[in-house]
Amino acid sequence: MIRMEGIVLSGANNLFSILCDDGERRLCAIKGKRIKDMTGEYNALAAGDEVEVSAGDDERPGDPGLPVPAGQSLPLARGMITALKARRNVFGRYNEKGRANQSIAANVDIVVCVASPSIPPFRPRFVDRVAILSEAARVPLLIALNKSDMGVDAKTESRLALYEELGYGVLPCSALSGRNVERLAELLRGRTSVFVGQSGVGKSSLLNAIEPGLTRRVGEVSEKYARGRHTTTMAELIVLGGGTRIIDTPGVRRLALRGIEPLGLDAYFPELAALSPLCEFGLSCTHTDESGCRITLAVEEGRVHADRYESYLRVRRELEANREYSAKEGRSAPGHRSSGIRRGDGARKIARFHGREEADD
Ligand code: GDP
Ligand code: ZN
Repeated sequence: MIRMEGIVLSGANNLFSILCDDGERRLCAIKGKRIKDMTGEYNALAAGDEVEVSAGDDERPGDPGLPVPAGQSLPLARGMITALKARRNVFGRYNEKGRANQSIAANVDIVVCVASPSIPPFRPRFVDRVAILSEAARVPLLIALNKSDMGVDAKTESRLALYEELGYGVLPCSALSGRNVERLAELLRGRTSVFVGQSGVGKSSLLNAIEPGLTRRVGEVSEKYARGRHTTTMAELIVLGGGTRIIDTPGVRRLALRGIEPLGLDAYFPELAALSPLCEFGLSCTHTDESGCRITLAVEEGRVHADRYESYLRVRRELEANREYSAKEGRSAPGHRSSGIRRGDGARKIARFHGREEADD
């Protein structure tokens, strides 16, 4: 048996592809009970996770008893994952089908949200959710507006300017024309990034443009829009030269959020976080209908963008509805961070939205 370290590239059905530090890719199952027992999680390991591996020195690629990964002629060597090293951070979402928190990428330096100005249209509400998840992971966010060759309308331009004001990176680019592709590649160099985006925004095309030869599968927008065609693949870490690692994630329609205390949600909106300590009811202000709320005042006066506030309200409703639901089932919501703060009266009012399906944001 040889012991070594490795990084998780991808995984499915509890089998993970690990790039080991001897340069070999091994297909590994989890051995350590502690990793397996990461209860309440959709998946025990995420792309980018650093693990300890033990491998038998008798098993080599070429061994006819080993599995052959799709598109490859040689079977993979095998090993066992014996330990998960502490994560620097983790970017994840809530998996609604699996009803559990899903870690998508671990140990990342930057989140890249790929968006497009049209076909599909720019969805600020989706970007807001990615921003919340990036804040939760404490990882900087770059919004890459692909398809900028199609033209960007004034409304989208102004939303992008707002994101920039809030401290997020914004880069208009185009996989088609090559605009800012080199700049994007520069920003990713030597770092681990995670790419997220709605289907059809051109995430695969952009990755192919950054690294010719990658051959990520590019599809028709209409085909990618179609329901039921989404395969539940895990994110995949791509190793490029010079220490550059990109974690590509399957295109999603919606990013569900859980595990944030509703009363603390303002902390994930930089412009709200700056104002909320000044509210008359302090930390118990829900920023909905309280008198002396600095946030609703700022929205009225146009100092906080009404649409960003609307995003706050929608996510807040989602968190509240989920909490009520979890309480009814007699279990606490997965990963709920306890703030130790009593819920304000506004929360009860918000609960009336309970169970309502949100629009496709
Ligand atoms: P993904 O679902 O985000 O991976 O998107 P794809 O890379 O599969 O691209 C979806 C569609 O958008 C394809 O028809 C691409 O040819 C097209 N596309 C990708 N990038 C661009 C771009 O920069 N400009 C334009 N006009 N079309 C693009
Ligand atoms: Zn308030």
